[in-house]
Amino acid sequence: MQYWDYHTHSSLCNHAIGTIEDYITSAIEKNLAEIGISDHFPMDLLPEHFHIYAMPLNEFPSYISEIKRLQAKYISQIKVKIASEVDFFPTAFNGYKRIIKPFLDDFDYIIGSVHAVPWQGIEAIPIDEVQAIPMIKELGVDRVYLEYYDTLLEMIKTNFYNIVGHFDLPKKYGLFPQDSDKIWQKILQVLDQIENSGMAVEINTSGLYKNVKQTYPKEDIIKELIQRKIPITLGSDAHSPKYIGFKFQEIIVRIKKWGLTSLCQFSSYENNLIPLD
Ligand SMILES: [Zn+2]
Ligand SMILES: [Zn+2]
Repeated sequence: MQYWDYHTHSSLCNHAIGTIEDYITSAIEKNLAEIGISDHFPMDLLPEHFHIYAMPLNEFPSYISEIKRLQAKYISQIKVKIASEVDFFPTAFNGYKRIIKPFLDDFDYIIGSVHAVPWQGIEAIPIDEVQAIPMIKELGVDRVYLEYYDTLLEMIKTNFYNIVGHFDLPKKYGLFPQDSDKIWQKILQVLDQIENSGMAVEINTSGLYKNVKQTYPKEDIIKELIQRKIPITLGSDAHSPKYIGFKFQEIIVRIKKWGLTSLCQFSSYENNLIPLD
């Protein structure tokens, strides 16, 4: 079966390598049916620390037109979807909705991600960064997890996003909560909210090539997704073309044993379940 990779970046975001076209040709080489180009939406409205992690807003129109050009160029070889990974940060959300509006008609889906965990006194914890480890330890790993999942809850309630990006990101550098039961209860609350929202969750394989050596989300959460029939999609979160479709085949073989029967695709925000063979 041909899979699809819905979470990809490019050099436009300043911390990935390769052009959009490089990612598309890599996806063709890997025999994928679709690739979603989902570069970080401009982070101009996040605390200043984060601005460098995305293209500036004035480059976004050319990002969209470049994807459209490549969509046409490769139409006989692969379906190219237009997307973006859009941060959720509570105090910036209304501003985001305003600046993203001109592009909404172009997207097939929006990935919602929390990279910046709001925190009183310091604005935000950059949980995606290795430099944040001492800060997270000092503030308390469990507290950071709870705040992260509360932010995710708020994100889901907005009804603005289609796919939850890297669900359990705070584990990225191998920091795990002490009171895992308490965090699990919070995760179940998040899953209840997703169930009511119609959102999908990605199996993000980038954790497999990072310190944590797990997918996002981890096995127990994936099993809950399957049981609750929450739509699942696939993303490598590639920041280099070589990671396109990373370990998709073997992950799906494993997850099928847990009862997964379909994966979802998006076209113009329409969620379409594709049965697995
Ligand atoms: Zn990135
Ligand atoms: Zn991300």
